[in-house]
Amino acid sequence: MIKIILKRGREDSILRFHPWVFSGAVAQVQGHPEEGDIVAVHSSDGKFLAAGHWQIGSIAVRILSFDSDVTAPDFWETMISRALSLRKSVGLASSGTSGTDCYRLVHGEGDNLPGLIIDYYGGVCVMQAHSAGMFRARKRICEALRNVYGDSLKAVYDKSSGTAPFKAGLDLVDSYLWRRDDFADDEQTVSENGHKFFVNWTSGQKTGFFLDQRENRALVEKHSSGRKVLNLFCYTGGFSVYALAGGASYVESVDSSKKAVEMVERNVALNGFGADRHKSVCADAIDWLKNVPEGKFDLIIVDPPAFAKHRGALKNALRAYQRLNASAISKVAPGGLIFTYSCSQVVDKEAFALAVFSAAASTGRSVRILDRLNQPADHAVNIYHPEGEYLKGLFLYVE
Ligand code: SAH
Repeated sequence: MIKIILKRGREDSILRFHPWVFSGAVAQVQGHPEEGDIVAVHSSDGKFLAAGHWQIGSIAVRILSFDSDVTAPDFWETMISRALSLRKSVGLASSGTSGTDCYRLVHGEGDNLPGLIIDYYGGVCVMQAHSAGMFRARKRICEALRNVYGDSLKAVYDKSSGTAPFKAGLDLVDSYLWRRDDFADDEQTVSENGHKFFVNWTSGQKTGFFLDQRENRALVEKHSSGRKVLNLFCYTGGFSVYALAGGASYVESVDSSKKAVEMVERNVALNGFGADRHKSVCADAIDWLKNVPEGKFDLIIVDPPAFAKHRGALKNALRAYQRLNASAISKVAPGGLIFTYSCSQVVDKEAFALAVFSAAASTGRSVRILDRLNQPADHAVNIYHPEGEYLKGLFLYVE
């Protein structure tokens, strides 16, 4: 294994189990690692600290292990079994009874596997590598998934072309790493809290479905009875289906993606709801909201894509969150509810709350925070890597 020697005094963060080594902390590289090679990180006095994937850029190493076990033949089986145990321990991956057969199996640093995302959809694993190391390990990861899940696994699909770095000259084409002879579909019907959804990992966004809103959708279901619901940035209609199941008198779903809106229609029908209570609209949600009559809706969901993908975009993103939320707050009926989210990792929960606070203030309405919302347990946050917390939301009451 190629050795990376840190500068004196720069081992502290690794000793506190932070999973990244920044390039500025590296004193010496003994050899010529290729991007994605496994390297050993040593302190300036020669002690082994950790092993991980070598990377070109400001993060030089993404740590896979603080022991030397990364080269053990069953390393991937061990890591995937540990990830699965966590999901089982919160009732997500236990067969049959929970009404949910889809979950995030691997959440990067949250599962001590930086750069790797794996979502599980009723027997199909969809992986996204965010690093060259994970991309290069994909066949081994696939093998480990087969060994851990056994006969219940139907397919493993690699969808890394949009996420893995291209620098390593890797051949990035999304493809099945493996699939069972009797499984030929690109789509699967999954259950989430007893509700059914079509998930298409080849044509859908990200891995096909937004699993991180599972619990927030259940909260919307609980508060939808008799209400008129506006679901902005609805994607494939997760919140809409729950709202209809919760007894909403009417649900309007808005997304700018035509493919997403077609999926909403299919998902609403799949759950047995008719067009009498649901309408979907393909439009820019921000413009659409401007033309919504005041007081028409008494529950509004605001779940936009990440407005800030990096620090440099933070200021503009906060302004965009502020404007969008001000618009929702001003439009909701008196006594109405708003569920508002941000999935931008660089916008922390204080900054988001401040943006929503200034949005509320600009409308002059009386607004109360009923709850603060998060990502669910299968999107676990590594305590040594708080940056892994990305989804935040507020549940508001507008008088
Ligand atoms: N609430 C969804 C996830 C939302 S993801 C769920 O529970 O599954 C963000 C969505 O916003 C994507 O579907 C994307 O197509 C859509 N989107 C992006 N920009 C938009 C815009 N300006 N207007 C409407 N929808 C937009």
